[in-house]
Amino acid sequence: MDKHTVLVTGGAGFIGSHACVELLQAGFNVVVVDNLSNSKLESLKRVEQITGKTLQFYQADIRDKTALTDIFAKESIATVIHFAGLKAVGESCEQPLNYYHNNVYGTLVLLEAMSEANVKQLVFSSSATVYQPSETGQYSESLPLGAINPYGRSKVMVEDILRDVAAVDKIKPNGAPWKVALLRYFNPIGAHESGMIGEDPNGIPNNLMPYVSQVAIGNLKQLSVYGNDYATPDGTGIRDYIHVVDLVKGHIKAIEAIESDKFSGGGCKAYNLGTGKGYSVLDIVNTFEAVTGRKILYQFAPRRAGDLAECFANPALADKELNWIADKDLEDMIADTWNWQVKNPQGYVD
Ligand code: NAD
Ligand code: UDP
Repeated sequence: MDKHTVLVTGGAGFIGSHACVELLQAGFNVVVVDNLSNSKLESLKRVEQITGKTLQFYQADIRDKTALTDIFAKESIATVIHFAGLKAVGESCEQPLNYYHNNVYGTLVLLEAMSEANVKQLVFSSSATVYQPSETGQYSESLPLGAINPYGRSKVMVEDILRDVAAVDKIKPNGAPWKVALLRYFNPIGAHESGMIGEDPNGIPNNLMPYVSQVAIGNLKQLSVYGNDYATPDGTGIRDYIHVVDLVKGHIKAIEAIESDKFSGGGCKAYNLGTGKGYSVLDIVNTFEAVTGRKILYQFAPRRAGDLAECFANPALADKELNWIADKDLEDMIADTWNWQVKNPQGYVD
């Protein structure tokens, strides 16, 4: 039975394409808007191959109000999952205006188009980078926000805007209220078990897992481990890696919550999506070698500016309110990353 229609902004990207698979398999109709600035149409063709279902694709920029208005007029959209945006921390320090324009202004245009079309259910891709760095390394939703780079600040700004927009309904009810889930991702890795879709970064990867995977396949020579003098058991940075398929299942749970009594009367709530477990860079290297049988050449290098020693989620709220917990372990994440890498050594080829 068909459920309602979901507009997925940024649906051709890494997380968005995996979300499209889960949504189609759960019976939702899917409409994607993406400007393909960091993705290829091939990802969506593969989504259709995996699911045996079709989706509607619009190549457009979310900052193009006319294009969005047309999409809302043509499609009867009930909920938006908003992935579209730029995501590289280092690049955001070099191009802050570009980041604020895509991530903040782009979201404003989307919210205006949604408001005019009376579509007020939204799941937003936020990030663990919104939190003010804490000594313990573990982050709960109640901890103070305070990002330390333009990318993170763009996410805090959008969260603030969404809290303000949803708060108006409490002051002055006006038709259907806004229902917004802010999902704060920790470190998404892995790929769909088919190996047909996965992470396909442009150029040299910034993130650990695609870098390691490209060293293993022979595209890159060796990994630089950024810092071995952190106050962690082996001196390297600790993160909470989460399988992308577990992560996107959290979005379906968020839609279900938004449509349940939990959001009756509207509101804007934040949820961490992480496993609650931290792994060091060397844990990743060692587990990658054990799972794939490949040697990962690495050298220690200075710390990367802006990196924290440790960052992992307290995922209890998502468990309690969304009935969501991550299922897959680090071995699954690495096996699926490797399966995608081996089947697509050069990523997507259009
Ligand atoms: P991605 O770059 O693979 O996907 C983003 C998609 O949005 C791309 O297909 C890109 O072409 C599209 N896009 C960008 N700007 C656009 C615009 N102005 N109009 C239309 N389309 C546009 O990134 P991803 O890893 O899939 O991340 C998705 C979301 O999750 C982003 O908002 C990101 O900030 C957030 N997030 C990602 C991570 C991560 O580690 N991957 C962690 C936390 C949060
Ligand atoms: N890292 C590394 N070498 C790399 C990329 C990343 O040592 O080439 C480390 C980084 O310092 C951090 C962890 O791997 O401790 C995860 O980094 P990533 O960029 O994947 O995610 P982040 O948590 O920074 O968003």
